[in-house]
Amino acid sequence: MKNLTPALFLDRDGVINREVEYLYKSEQVQFIPGIFDLCRAAQALEHKVIVITNQSGIARQFYSEEDFHALMRWMTEEFAREQVILDAYYYCPHHPQFGVGQYRKDCADRKPGPGMLFRAAEEHRIDLGKSLLLGDRCSDIEAGAAAGVGKLVLLAGTEPSPCISSARYVVVPSIMDAINLLPRNVSPPKATGNI
Ligand SMILES: [Mg+2]
Ligand SMILES: [Zn+2]
Repeated sequence: MKNLTPALFLDRDGVINREVEYLYKSEQVQFIPGIFDLCRAAQALEHKVIVITNQSGIARQFYSEEDFHALMRWMTEEFAREQVILDAYYYCPHHPQFGVGQYRKDCADRKPGPGMLFRAAEEHRIDLGKSLLLGDRCSDIEAGAAAGVGKLVLLAGTEPSPCISSARYVVVPSIMDAINLLPRNVSPPKATGNI
């Protein structure tokens, strides 16, 4: 396959914004320091920036899919003000036990399942092996491992103990520490003229 690009896959709650239970209003959003720097660094290295988020608050009917999309539109604008293009976001509105009606479903998208990552890779022509995933939970790491994401990074603070995982992952104390972990093995620019 030609022309695959790397991606920076970001969990949302606890990575982009401070964890607030069942957040859906922009007034509740506090961006986590370093998130825009990381995204700008990733884009300078030709990564797409893609959010991958479980949204069981939709399943539980604490807020609607439209509420979620409204918040993501707002967030996309905030990113744009910081010179970051959010290329896409993927979400799973399901929960296997607590979902109401159509939202009660054991969905392959719900992390630790890799469904959203596979879909993102197909729809955005992503080279998963050359991509980096940053999450704050072991389920993020497991999803990335199941999808074959090359670099798995856990932001410290949310999980009380190390992940029980066969996956190789790196723990960083802050988002700024993830910048140096971005894969730099992007293809060199095409030569122009005679060499
Ligand atoms: Mg999270
Ligand atoms: Zn789902």
